[in-house]
Amino acid sequence: MTEINENELYQRALRVWGKEPQMLQVIEEMSELIKEILKNVNRKKENTAAIIEETADVEIMLGQLKCCYGIKEQVAQYKAEKLKLISERLDNWEKKE
Ligand SMILES: [Mg+2]
Repeated sequence: MTEINENELYQRALRVWGKEPQMLQVIEEMSELIKEILKNVNRKKENTAAIIEETADVEIMLGQLKCCYGIKEQVAQYKAEKLKLISERLDNWEKKE
């Protein structure tokens, strides 16, 4: 099997299936992950396999969302800044304990 280029695949999905349907699919997959998280937390269900599957689905759809809006680099940059901020907050939080 040839290696799959994620970005090319996302561009292809957007071209073949359309941007709007794919952006609605982002919402659909996010709602499926939400449901599995709620089952796990509220009903103490052992559903790790479902959480793995739905997390992968959401990551794939977020890849398509970034392609769709052409925001991959900006998201990566914003995420790096956020991670730094979270790290600083954790440092401060742990100092208080
Ligand atoms: Mg799914």
